[in-house]
Amino acid sequence: MITQMSLAVQRPLWQAELARAVSSPAELLALLDLPVSLLPGAARKDFPLRVPRGYVARMKPGNPHDALLRQVLPVDEEGLSAEGFTPDALGEHQAMPVAGLLHKYHGRALLVTTGACAVHCRYCFRRHFPYAEANPAPEQWRAALDYLAQDASISEMILSGGDPLSLPDTRLASLAERLAAVPHLDTLRIHTRLPIVLPERVDDALLNWLTGTRLKPVMVVHANHAQELDGAVRSALGKLVRAGVTLFNQSVLLRGVNDSVEALAALSRGLFDAGVTPYYLHLLDRVRGTAHFEVGETRARELIAGVRARLPGYLVPRLVREIAGAPAKQPLAQSGAL
Ligand SMILES: *Cc1c(COP(=O)(O)O)cnc(C)c1O
Ligand code: SF4
Repeated sequence: MITQMSLAVQRPLWQAELARAVSSPAELLALLDLPVSLLPGAARKDFPLRVPRGYVARMKPGNPHDALLRQVLPVDEEGLSAEGFTPDALGEHQAMPVAGLLHKYHGRALLVTTGACAVHCRYCFRRHFPYAEANPAPEQWRAALDYLAQDASISEMILSGGDPLSLPDTRLASLAERLAAVPHLDTLRIHTRLPIVLPERVDDALLNWLTGTRLKPVMVVHANHAQELDGAVRSALGKLVRAGVTLFNQSVLLRGVNDSVEALAALSRGLFDAGVTPYYLHLLDRVRGTAHFEVGETRARELIAGVRARLPGYLVPRLVREIAGAPAKQPLAQSGAL
């Protein structure tokens, strides 16, 4: 007899963790022994709070200025309008040849696989992205794949989002297979914050499809602060390294989070310890609701010069900004001054 039990498919641990992520501002404040006076600003409906419990566990209770808390706790300042901060700072709403596919740079194309993320980062440049239109259902991946198949100049496919790793492995595995069937593609790159905010995501099922095709696997994770790299994260990153995945990190330079030479140097060292090469340090994209995170260009140059004076060159991320219409991320020249 087939019982209910034997039919039930075991849900992977990471999905269970995702399902119990904190979404109540009152609960988050209570977990961290923070005053309810922070509550009014935290109850934003347009881009609500979302943070996995394991990430909350890395925050320091009682500290309203904690570098991890600041990345996820909605605040009143998000409601302020600021000169030059717009919903679509990158002109991405225009750069899509087919739904969900961004082809801005030579040789690589980026597929917006999903609008979902495990965490809602308050500074996110995609917080106003029209995912409902851009976000192709699996059958629409066909249009993106057709576009790819017809452009032999594209050798690298980037899966982005949202967070591509918030999709189930069965769907990602079938996408990876279809990509591997495009002869001129040689690299599959995943842009994701999940190994950092929900390290349980790096399980055998993920490693199987990611390393199971002829495509060279590259992963660009997204950590902004050394305090994010606890034992569970280091072990997840270690699994990826041992499986043959090339790992890079990109960060965003954020006021009140990582805008000091010490914080940036500690992040680079922590990443290197975990097998990850620092890649980009992005200036904040000027998206509405994020002005309180901005670090000025002059200060940004000074900070990166400070990091350069302290660390080997391979641990200094490239300081870049994205400019709509430019052929690549734009590097910011280094300031001579420390
Ligand atoms: C950032 C980005 C890339 C990747 O750029 P790299 O410099 O190769 O890391 C590719 N496509 C789009 C649309 C991007 O925004
Ligand atoms: S995980 Fe990435 S895409 Fe998602 S909210 Fe954070 S920064 Fe934005």
